[in-house]
Amino acid sequence: MVVVSWPIIIAGKRLSSYPFINSIIKPFFMRPHNEVIFIPIQVAVEAPGQTHIPRRVLERLLHMVDDIFVFDECMCRSLMDCKNNPPSIGCMALGPTVSQMHGSHGKTIDTLAAISHLNRAADVGLVATVAHTWIDTVAFGLTPFKTLMFICFCDDCCCIFRKHMKKRGAGLEGAYQRLPGLEISHDREKCTGCGTCADACFLAAVSMEKGKAHITGECSGCGRCVETCEEGALSLKIEDEDSLLNDLVERIRSVSNLPLNTTKQKF
Ligand code: SF4
Ligand code: SF4
Repeated sequence: MVVVSWPIIIAGKRLSSYPFINSIIKPFFMRPHNEVIFIPIQVAVEAPGQTHIPRRVLERLLHMVDDIFVFDECMCRSLMDCKNNPPSIGCMALGPTVSQMHGSHGKTIDTLAAISHLNRAADVGLVATVAHTWIDTVAFGLTPFKTLMFICFCDDCCCIFRKHMKKRGAGLEGAYQRLPGLEISHDREKCTGCGTCADACFLAAVSMEKGKAHITGECSGCGRCVETCEEGALSLKIEDEDSLLNDLVERIRSVSNLPLNTTKQKF
């Protein structure tokens, strides 16, 4: 099913330009069937002594979950024979539904092993993606959908979420929304207008206006542009760690019944 679902997603993004087809496809890219939240674990934050806030937020989330399954490999990088990032850093599936996961995909792990996996992904520059998407239940034959959540570690060359999004039709605008409290800040004085960030943005959420970069409302807060700007004109700003975690938990609860034990945090 994984092999079949891949071309469906790609075709859906491209065909969303056609109004009639868009009306059929759009629900599958939007809530409640599709919720995708990018967490920029690979980018340092401008906050003294707290540069790993996004990573810590995900660590705290992992402490709240009892059931964690790690895939032996990333389906996307494996299918696309990725040459840029290691296929061995697979997604993690969370929630009671993972008890149905076939053992050939990977294994269940404890919280500390999950955090170690998260840190490996961050260290090689992958973006974390908290995803509650219908395609996972189809691809892996899992039910119920409501108690299943994924944390994937995404790149820009092979990821099913990120690849081809620049070619999306107008109907898919707003498919990936930024977590509140997370901002990309732009210093116009430092900006040389080189356009590197615009090329790097998978959503085409950076426009060049009067020789300077402009971050549009389509930005999902993935942080990739921050990594690419050699002038230091872009930075990641975060309200504070607790607020970011609360926003993330709220978003997860608004689309799923994933059991989250907030009293089990270790921080
Ligand atoms: S990469 Fe940096 S310097 Fe270049 S356009 Fe973007 S913000 Fe400006
Ligand atoms: S503007 Fe930057 S942070 Fe926003 S979606 Fe594009 S690459 Fe990600």
